[in-house]
Order: sequence, then C-alpha cells, then structure tokens
Amino acid sequence: MSQETQKKHQTKMARKKKVVDEGINRADREQGLLLVLTGNGKGKSSSAFGMIARALGHGMKVGVAQFIKGSSDTGEESFFKGHPRVTWHVLGEGFTWETQNLEKDKQTAENGWDVARQMLHDPSYDLIVLDELTYPLRYKWLDMDKVLADLQARHDMQHVVVTGRGALSALVEAADTVTELADKKHAYRAGVKAQKGIDL
Ligand code: ATP
Ligand code: MG
Repeated sequence: MSQETQKKHQTKMARKKKVVDEGINRADREQGLLLVLTGNGKGKSSSAFGMIARALGHGMKVGVAQFIKGSSDTGEESFFKGHPRVTWHVLGEGFTWETQNLEKDKQTAENGWDVARQMLHDPSYDLIVLDELTYPLRYKWLDMDKVLADLQARHDMQHVVVTGRGALSALVEAADTVTELADKKHAYRAGVKAQKGIDL
C-alpha cells in the first residue's frame, strides 16, 4: 500500500472517529427503556432472552412474563428459570385458535397482566421481558391505555422489552427503541420443524 493511500485512510478515519465520538458524548443520559421487538421475522424472543443474559451478567434482577403460549419447553426457560435473580411466569394458555374461547382468553390475559403489573411496580426488577404481549393488545383482550399507564408508572431505571408480531402504533409510539424484524426466509417453509437450540 502506498504511503499516500495510507495517509488518506488515516485522515478519513480520524474524521469518522470525531463524528462517532461526538455522537457517543451527546448520548449521556441514563434511563429505563421500553423496547419493542416486532415484525414477522425470527429473532424477537431470542433477542429479548439475550438481553436477560446481558442483564444477569451485570448482576441485575430480571422478570419474565410470557403471554399466549402455555406450556413452553424452550431452552431459555429451563436455563434461566433456576437462576436466583430470575422470576419466570408462563401466563398464556395457547393461541386463540387453540383455546377457541374468547371470554376465557380475555380473562387469562387480564390475570396475566395482573402478574406483569406487580413486577412493573416492583423497583427491584431491573429488566422485565413481556414476551408476546403484542397479541393480547392486538386482540383487545387487554386495554392499551391501561397497559401503557402501568408501563409509564414503572421505576424510571427499569427496562422493559416487549416482543410479538404486529405491535400496535400506540405501543410503538410509547417505546424508546423499536426493531421490526423482517422475514426474508424461514426453514419452516421448506419443511423443517422447529429445531432445539434454534427455535426453542
Ligand atoms: P425466536 O423465539 O426464534 O426469536 P420469534 O420470537 O421472533 O422467534 P415467534 O413469532 O415468537 O418468533 O415464533 C416463535 C417460533 O416460530 C420460533 O420457533 C421461530 O423460529 C418460529 N418463527 C419465527 N419467525 C417465523 C417465520 N417467519 N416463519 C415461520 N416460523 C417462524
Ligand atoms: Mg417469540
């Protein structure tokens, strides 16, 4: 590589570093965040569970509330459930086409929200994952205003991650960080069943 190329690169990178450093210095606040992971692509719950590992690595306390799916045998549940700083609630009873009982779905969701609300009102939780909360909100089993009020009333350093497809705009607006995962391809459609360690 010529000296001139090297010098040009150095000048360009110095400029870039200045921009990056300025950005980092500008973001100097600390606060509890509301994150929404939505969209049709794979990676919503596994990303939320990845943040649990991060939080535990920092000695933080974590609460999980899983809406919709009832008995789940995911690797994350069995891995994290025994951890002394993790509380894990499975609050769902299956998808609505499985239960086929609207009144019961509504009651299950409301009971589930009572459990989630207790964690939101407990400032000792540093991170709370509300897995698949988007569905009871979409189906109107839970009142959006009530849910948002409980989220807003939480301790100001508590982080909350909501997952699920089709997040309603009111939830997206209330959130600080929103990621929409896009579905480009999924092995399921090629006939591969859910694989341990990847899908559950
Ligand atoms: P993961 O738990 O793997 O991060 P997810 O939370 O984004 O996935 P969900 O909608 O909760 O996705 O679905 C959970 C299961 O469905 C997983 O087994 C996942 O691999 C699978 N899945 C996710 N996206 C798709 C898709 N687009 N088509 C088919 N199956 C999918
Ligand atoms: Mg999921």
